[in-house]
Amino acid sequence: MGSEHNDTIYTNMEDAKKPIQRKTLDERNQMTDLERLRHSCAHIMATAVLRLWPEAKLDIGPPTDEGFYYDFDLDGHRFSPDDFENIEAEMKKVVKENQVFERQTKTRDEARAFFQERGQNFKVERLADIPEGEEISFYQNGEFIDLCAGPHVMRTGNVKAYKLLRVAATYYRGNEKNPQLQRIYGTAFPNKTQLQEWLTAQEEARKRDHRRIGKAMQLFTFDDDVGPGLPLWMPKGSILIEELEKLAKETEFEAGYQRVRTPHLAKESMYLTSGHLPYYAESMFPPMELSEDGNEDGEKGQVKERYYLKAMNCPHHHKIFSASPRSYKELPLRLAEYGTCYRYEQSGELMGLMRVRSMQMNDAHIYCMPDQFADEFKAVNEMYLKYFKIFGFEKYQMRFSTHDPARLGEKFVDEPELWKKTEDMVRQVLIDSGIDYVEIPNEAAFYGPKIDVQVYSISGREFTIATNQVDFAVPSKFGLKYRTADNQFETPLCIHRAPLGTHERFLAFLIEHYAGNFPLWLAPEQIRILPLTDEQMDYAKGIEAELRQHGVRAELEFSHDKLPGRILRAEEAKVHTMLVVGGREQEANSVAVRLHGKGRGEVRPRDEAIADILERIRTRSGD
Ligand SMILES: [Zn+2]
Ligand SMILES: [Zn+2]
Repeated sequence: MGSEHNDTIYTNMEDAKKPIQRKTLDERNQMTDLERLRHSCAHIMATAVLRLWPEAKLDIGPPTDEGFYYDFDLDGHRFSPDDFENIEAEMKKVVKENQVFERQTKTRDEARAFFQERGQNFKVERLADIPEGEEISFYQNGEFIDLCAGPHVMRTGNVKAYKLLRVAATYYRGNEKNPQLQRIYGTAFPNKTQLQEWLTAQEEARKRDHRRIGKAMQLFTFDDDVGPGLPLWMPKGSILIEELEKLAKETEFEAGYQRVRTPHLAKESMYLTSGHLPYYAESMFPPMELSEDGNEDGEKGQVKERYYLKAMNCPHHHKIFSASPRSYKELPLRLAEYGTCYRYEQSGELMGLMRVRSMQMNDAHIYCMPDQFADEFKAVNEMYLKYFKIFGFEKYQMRFSTHDPARLGEKFVDEPELWKKTEDMVRQVLIDSGIDYVEIPNEAAFYGPKIDVQVYSISGREFTIATNQVDFAVPSKFGLKYRTADNQFETPLCIHRAPLGTHERFLAFLIEHYAGNFPLWLAPEQIRILPLTDEQMDYAKGIEAELRQHGVRAELEFSHDKLPGRILRAEEAKVHTMLVVGGREQEANSVAVRLHGKGRGEVRPRDEAIADILERIRTRSGD
């Protein structure tokens, strides 16, 4: 519980250690056509492997999100991608033979004897997983016969487009104490075009991987001595952060927010009030136990206080709200902070910047009266849309999670009227704003409806930015009150919002979205000035100084290398704009403008080129 802004699991993780649960017959019957195809392809691969390495022992070969795998135990040979050509050639033969996938059943004893004879010990053990009374089925294609509940495609010839992807070491049933197995991953698609499209997309995703780009561009790093999941932002990455904060601060200032700053930790009592403890304890770092020093006998005293690193900024902001008596005239009160939070993610779940243990959040809490809610909520949505436009997220969807009246007081705070009223208002705002949204019943937070925002990168990657939540429970837990016009005391509604999520996740997404080729306003190195020879040094220095005076990140690079080499280096560093100046440019008081990735540019008068650069930065233009 508590407000969990941007808590979405990043799903592209591979975990060969996790044992997969045996599917029930029902689940198997629900296999999609694609899964059926892919699982059949796993049989074809196993057929091929056994033809090439008849001594291989087989474990299992289920479909996965990206394709399929099969686990083998093979002593004399270590599989590598060098084997793929051979295996695929053999698979091609099996497909060409167009063998029928034939189902047959055996009794438990027959099945056991069958595998014992063939030395297939894993299969003997897997037999024991099949519940008593369930039919023990086998599938045969050609000479290959496998313990399997199916289903499959009709014939091996139905499998038309496949590719082996990689090998990995794994353990039988995912347990390190068990024998090590060799896993071969592959994928299959209904046709070659779809396979090719998928392979191209995979390659593109690999190129855009924020961990790879982050390292090449020296944006951030991790260090064992600092600890897993605790990113260190290097100078160039820090520029990205500062630019995002500048954008957020300008936008929020314009929208009437006020900035606050709060410490990174707080006493246990506050988290007990907020309800984060004990419910959210496992996501928090363990407490620091402080004893009172200097007690009379000079010994170390008892634990007096427990302090926790903050997992959320909300309680701190609530305390700022309650720090002085509030009047309705002060509402809506919008408190904003790029607050650093700490969450104890399991080490197996850490992934680059996508899953981290320290994060800086684009946080704010809006305290308002019910009749101000619709306008405030609308303004928050508009802020999201404004950001989407700046970053060029053309495709997005808002997911509006509502409560279930049957579960009031149990899953949802027992405020039937407030639920109805706020949900109606949220729905109306979404409709009035013409926002693309879906409504998801029974998925609201405990204390109010919420909106998750899905955006899609240029390469089609889906990403949950952050949630926008309404909260009508926590403000009352903290005893937040304001004096109304007729001198009563009321509890405000609170909107939690974080349109730019956390720096860590948002930048991971942006790095992949732009493939590291940031627009000018955001690029860590905006301008590199390349004088052709010593002769143009003074002219080039003058341009550099002028740009830097205007806050532009401009660097002069001079070496006696040939120009093409220097341009290549700037391209590799993803410098946004190069200004090349030779004798002719100097003479004419001009510059040759060359944009990253765009090849030879045009020669422009110096003043015009600089004015254009400044304007594009000022407007945060998308190119
Ligand atoms: Zn099968
Ligand atoms: Zn919050």
